[in-house]
Amino acid sequence: MIIDGKKFAQKLRNKVKQEIQSVKRKTGLTPGLTVILVGNNTPSEIYVKNKELSAQEVGINSKVLRFKSTISEAKLTSVIHKLNKDKKVHGILVQLPLPNHINGSKIIEEIDPNKDVDGFHAINVGNLSSGKDALVPCTPLGCYLMIKNVRKNLSGLNAFIIGRSNLNGKPMAQLLLKEDCTVTIGHSKTKNLKELCKKADIVVAAVGRANLVKGDWIKKGAIVIDVGINRVEKKGGYKIVGDVDFKSVVKKVKAITPVPGGVGPVTIACLLSNTLKAFKTIHHFKK
Ligand code: NAP
Repeated sequence: MIIDGKKFAQKLRNKVKQEIQSVKRKTGLTPGLTVILVGNNTPSEIYVKNKELSAQEVGINSKVLRFKSTISEAKLTSVIHKLNKDKKVHGILVQLPLPNHINGSKIIEEIDPNKDVDGFHAINVGNLSSGKDALVPCTPLGCYLMIKNVRKNLSGLNAFIIGRSNLNGKPMAQLLLKEDCTVTIGHSKTKNLKELCKKADIVVAAVGRANLVKGDWIKKGAIVIDVGINRVEKKGGYKIVGDVDFKSVVKKVKAITPVPGGVGPVTIACLLSNTLKAFKTIHHFKK
């Protein structure tokens, strides 16, 4: 089974759209998302545009605040404090990376945790790791939903996560631990990556190394989620590949996400779902 991320994302967006229509009818209120973009980094511009369009499509009031790369940390902090108080704003997202003179993690901590739709605030990180309700980072949340769609009961399965970033690997581990998986995390200092991987029923690769995971690393019938986005040269140009060597791995798996067209589209859909969740929390809506 090759998981079609575009289809999966469309389903999720439809669900969010329907729920937004229903909360609008009940309350007369509209969920709002504000994205802060600093500087003119081209990939960030593209990501932000996609987020804005997807949010509008499901009925979220979405706004992008653009600032020059010279903005001070103090000014950016005051912008966030204003958004924290704004009743029409339920989700605040600061597009990363920020310019070097701004401390990104300090800025994230200024966001009201209830509006932290990226799930990066320490309160959300802490809630997730202590098994409480939290806003969960969008990419691992999307991976989790796709895994659960393949197999509902994950209890007792061996999960191997390659990568330990705060953005992907660590929250992914917490989500699968909550599902009673036996979780192992690999990273750049892990000695026997292949051997550990071969024992896994679920593999999530979030590394940033093209085609690292090969077919002979994979147990037959495993679920493989490829988070990686790597640009590799191809006939004078470039193409995008994942961290998983799709060709050799696909033959052995129960399910796999391709790159592109796997995790990427689902990530943005999860941002919309997080914005709706934030709206419901702020307005004390039942889950
Ligand atoms: P990151 O912060 O650079 O973390 C990469 C992790 O991989 C680190 O834990 C690192 O280990 C580990 N690693 C690096 N080389 C390794 C190797 N040879 N063997 C084993 N582990 C190794 O990256 P990230 O932000 O998590 O992103 C990972 C990938 O996902 C990137 O390709 C990124 O572009 C992609 N991504 C995709 C989406 C999406 O929506 N699809 C979203 C975000 C990111 P150490 O901790 O020891 O350094």
